[in-house]
Amino acid sequence: MQFPRLHIVHLPTPLEPLDRLSAALKGPRIWIKRDDCTGLATGGNKARKLEFLMADAIQRGADTIITSGATQSNHARQTAAFAAKLGLKCKLVLEECVKPSDISFRTNGNALLDRLVGAETLFVTAGTETSPLMSEIAQDCSANGGTPYVIPVGGSNPIGTMGYVQAARELNAQTAELKLNIDEIVLASGSAGTQAGLLVGFRACDLSPPVWGVSVGRSKDALGPLVLNLAQQTAEFAGVDMSIALGDVLVSSEFVGQGYGLPTSQAIEAIELTARHEGILLDPVYTGKAMAGLIHRIRQGIYRPGQNIVFWHTGGVAGLFAYADEFPRPRQAGSVRASRALN
Ligand SMILES: *Cc1c(COP(=O)(O)O)cnc(C)c1O
Repeated sequence: MQFPRLHIVHLPTPLEPLDRLSAALKGPRIWIKRDDCTGLATGGNKARKLEFLMADAIQRGADTIITSGATQSNHARQTAAFAAKLGLKCKLVLEECVKPSDISFRTNGNALLDRLVGAETLFVTAGTETSPLMSEIAQDCSANGGTPYVIPVGGSNPIGTMGYVQAARELNAQTAELKLNIDEIVLASGSAGTQAGLLVGFRACDLSPPVWGVSVGRSKDALGPLVLNLAQQTAEFAGVDMSIALGDVLVSSEFVGQGYGLPTSQAIEAIELTARHEGILLDPVYTGKAMAGLIHRIRQGIYRPGQNIVFWHTGGVAGLFAYADEFPRPRQAGSVRASRALN
């Protein structure tokens, strides 16, 4: 079966070894799948989902895209960028669940890019149910002669998840060419689409490396069933014959810290370590927590030397700039002296 899909994303994304980070951690060989390089307004994993979602929207004649997320949502920003590229209107409902009184948090990072690409943004207080609000906005749009298309949080329905069914095939082709055997995949898991899509995609190509989802907010008991249900729905949608049980879904909520969008000291360490050894940028909300999970596993001695572990980089770099205060700054005197020396 052919699924409508756009071709906007830069694919395949590179698969690269992180040899300096691997050596520093004295662990297995770490590879990185660069879905931070998907293009369009600083990239990220939602772009793969949006190729399918936006194709569906266009097929249905939509002129207005509506979606929601947190203040610093990467999903909202990528959706807004796709809409700009396709000449569609975009309305974002953003829940201020983190730092609601911090004006720069609401204006910098992803929020800056939302404005720049021309999205209309409605900020709502933490705990607001965004789905009914999106339906209301959609009804309004229809009443005014428009054709709305609502994308759920994270783009995680079976249509969007197809992006990661395809991504599993892409990684499979890359590892086959490198004659590489992957022992485990580690990634940040939020609304479950990335992890669920990979589970279905790997089954479809008769591979099943363990795919370990590091929760960025939900408890393990909430995330596991979410991934399972979405994997089952997506398999049915994609026509992949597979049976999957909760025991096949590997998730951990050990690295969430105080909650979604709240950085942990382990994530900050992981971000700094990766930046300093590889020049690769992670973020405090998603990929920093996932890398903290991988680093913890390495330090626990779970992997054998010579094993190949893929860290799936899901993007999020724009969010980094909304969290500048989390990183230690040089003291004022030090920077004055340094700038004198440079002159
Ligand atoms: C959305 C997002 C995730 C989580 O992906 P899901 O498909 O929602 O589980 C991970 N990393 C980044 C940077 C994201 O923006």
